[in-house]
Amino acid sequence: MAARRIFSGIQPTGRKHLGNYIGAIRQYVQGQDRGEAIYCIVDLHAHTVPQDPAELRERLYDTTAILLAAGLEPDRCILFRQSDVPEHTELCWLLGTQTAWGDLNRMHQWKEKSAQQRDLVSAGLFFYPVLQAADVLAYRAHEVPVGDDQRQHIELMRDIAERFNARFGETLVVPEGRYPEVGARIMNLQDPEARMSTTYGPEQGTVYIVDDDETVRKKVRSAVTDSGTEIRRAPEKAGITNLIEIAAAVREIAPDEIEHEFDGSGYGDFKSAVADAVVEYLGPVRDRYAELRPDQAALESVLGAGAEKARGIAAGTVADVRQAMGVGPARGPV
Ligand code: ATP
Ligand code: MG
Repeated sequence: MAARRIFSGIQPTGRKHLGNYIGAIRQYVQGQDRGEAIYCIVDLHAHTVPQDPAELRERLYDTTAILLAAGLEPDRCILFRQSDVPEHTELCWLLGTQTAWGDLNRMHQWKEKSAQQRDLVSAGLFFYPVLQAADVLAYRAHEVPVGDDQRQHIELMRDIAERFNARFGETLVVPEGRYPEVGARIMNLQDPEARMSTTYGPEQGTVYIVDDDETVRKKVRSAVTDSGTEIRRAPEKAGITNLIEIAAAVREIAPDEIEHEFDGSGYGDFKSAVADAVVEYLGPVRDRYAELRPDQAALESVLGAGAEKARGIAAGTVADVRQAMGVGPARGPV
């Protein structure tokens, strides 16, 4: 049986946060043990909102160094930059012709992000989920590790692959999303009704992987909670629920066990304990990041080697898609 293929993409925003780490990056690292793991830093996706070109390059190296610091190993996975593999954009166009405009117009992320733009709302932002579908389908991936906010995009790429196969014959693999059991949606510590995110929500409520220990402690200790006293998960206790999930995720135990352990404790003590657990969890990653980040040539060489391997796979899929759609000359017998 062929190895299970795992694919995911991450934005080159550099300052990745605890939500990205628990929801996605940690799963990427584990993916290396479970199958053929392929990860892509999506600089073309980044341009769906305004970017400063020089900044974008810097943040891309930041993101590369964070992923390596977290435990991605270039000889156990393929790590590359999206724009180095032009097959993604070609496939994006071909799949766009098989995508319903109405489906794109229903995407929550499109609605949210287009409303946030002060200036240009680009057609690229609207087309974002098609490029994302192309990213995954180009590798015929079985599994896509992502956070909960990506469910709708995963459903869409499944629909696109199914429609394609129904029209043109079995060509693409229909992928499945893989969401962590605990921590698939980490919330902003200052606004526990909102997802912790790179592009919105209060800074004070967003824990960055590269924050120093004191900053992390301060952010966690000042997390917004309710006026009650009980440490248990409940819909009306969004702040405490989030902290329980964070503690469970970073200590790799069940949320029940956290509730049990802190039964009868005060919120202050609980927050301090969560702060310590997060510091212990992120500290080593941040320190490795600081070691890796300065050597840009080494980061570039990891990305270059990854792109070469990625192209080897994606080119085959795009050739099959072109063939199935009647685009370009007919392929002769092999
Ligand atoms: P933006 O808000 O600009 O989209 P982001 O914080 O979502 O940025 P991405 O690079 O788009 O960052 O996401 C990378 C991965 O992290 C995705 O798989 C996404 O589902 C996951 N993720 C993002 N936020 C969270 C969160 N709060 N909890 C769990 N997973 C998350
Ligand atoms: Mg996102």
